Amino acid sequence: MGRAFLYVILGGGVAAGYAALEFTRRGIGHGELCIISEEPVAPYERPALSKGFLLPEDPARLPSFHTCVGAHEERLTPKWYKEHGIELVLGTRVMSADVRRQTLLTSSGETISYKTLIIATGARALKLEEFGVMGSDAPNVCYLRNLADASRLVNVMQSAAGGKAVVIGGGYIGMECAASLVTNKISVTMVFPEEHIMARLFTPTIAAFYEDYYSSKGVEFIKGTVLSSLETNSLGQVVAVNLKDGRRLPADMVVVGIGIRPNTMLFEGQLTIDEKNGGIKVDAKMQTSNRSVYAVGDVASFPLPLLGSRNRRLEHVDCARKSAIHVVSSIMDPKDTGNFDYLPFFYSRVFTLSWQFYGDNAGEVVHFGDLSSFQGPFGAYWVNGKGQIVGAFLEGGSKDEYEAIARICRVQPVVGDRLDLASRGLEFAVSG
Ligand code: FAD
Ligand code: NDP
Repeated sequence: MGRAFLYVILGGGVAAGYAALEFTRRGIGHGELCIISEEPVAPYERPALSKGFLLPEDPARLPSFHTCVGAHEERLTPKWYKEHGIELVLGTRVMSADVRRQTLLTSSGETISYKTLIIATGARALKLEEFGVMGSDAPNVCYLRNLADASRLVNVMQSAAGGKAVVIGGGYIGMECAASLVTNKISVTMVFPEEHIMARLFTPTIAAFYEDYYSSKGVEFIKGTVLSSLETNSLGQVVAVNLKDGRRLPADMVVVGIGIRPNTMLFEGQLTIDEKNGGIKVDAKMQTSNRSVYAVGDVASFPLPLLGSRNRRLEHVDCARKSAIHVVSSIMDPKDTGNFDYLPFFYSRVFTLSWQFYGDNAGEVVHFGDLSSFQGPFGAYWVNGKGQIVGAFLEGGSKDEYEAIARICRVQPVVGDRLDLASRGLEFAVSG
């Protein structure tokens, strides 16, 4: 049994949705494109899962957040794919890939062949077991990567109403889930190994602002340690979390956000893997070491102009969207498509706070604005060894202000006096 397509997208997440829209804009024929996804639903905006989906009132539910609403574009429902002659093979895992033969073998036993393959398999959540802690399959331990995880998290939250949650990890999932749990009236203790939250992006000063804000909402922080075991009752439910430092935290539920690994497994030994950053190595056209195969989104390690074209893998939605659009352009219009000239953009929204970051958080940091109140806006610039602004962070900005910090990170002006930059603050970007 088998079918053949001109284009196949392996993975049906954010990148797949944006690529599908771009294919139709550039004009593909009916029956030329197939998307294969393990998930049972059409591509959706994954960021909604840790935000709107977890709201106690009027939560976001599909079909409202199918791609590409996150970029204020068309919402691609299953009907849209049908009308455009795009084959959606859902609830189907690709079990193996043969790059030489240009075929994929699915969990239903079908062989799907392609002329051009786009790998958009994203990433998987790291499990506690990979750090030597057993028992994370307990019914009240939650990870958050896909819709099934999010639905499960909602159920567990409802049965833990008024109770206690331990959140493991101080990164994006930890921060956003902790805020959602508090909004659902569950008290939260966050546990992570670093000295402060969001250690890879935030400076200690920025982190202190959010930690103070979270503390004002009742969140407790336990830093510099990790868990050693999960304590369960006779039903197999976790009742407490034991920490390496000897503390025991009673818990009605646990949320784990300890990072991800790109889903490269099917292609190891067949395509070049970026051993340092993880991910499938691609060039600036998003083409892998095989000419018929491209990779985008969380799974792709691509040359980043900001880093002098050194490769980097980014785990953020804007990159998934834009790399997907770029790859379709590379495939369908190779002569007129330049290199992927991407400026990293990360953001988050928690409680009533909202921040954006552009560029690279390397070099000397210059903070600006009032970090002592919860009023915003405040932020920081990162200045490299040549005195150029290469990164900028802003909390509580307006649309124009966010655009201004993005612009400044593209232009990379040389700055002289750091004190002057700090006192001009946001105005430096806005007037620049
Ligand atoms: P994904 O969207 O993960 O899609 C990959 C798809 O491939 C999945 O559907 C998966 O099931 C499928 N797949 C994998 N292997 C196979 C296989 N063998 N066979 C078939 N199908 C397969 N980023 C931000 O910038 N801002 C945010 O606010 C934000 N919030 C987030 C909230 C959550 C809860 C999560 C999990 C992520 C969030 N992100 C956010 C990150 C962002 O969602 C990802 O960067 C983005 O989804 C990556 O898109 P992708 O298409 O590469 O992968
Ligand atoms: P992150 O990489 O953001 O954070 C993982 C956190 O867990 C870090 O604080 C990490 O510390 C810590 N950690 C690692 N190992 C352990 C351990 N054994 N015990 C306790 N803590 C540990 O990953 P997340 O899981 O939070 O997020 C997963 C993905 O989802 C990311 O790709 C992220 O980009 C994406 N996402 C993005 C959002 C956004 O952009 N707004 C929102 C939600 C998710 P250390 O740094 O020391 O390893």
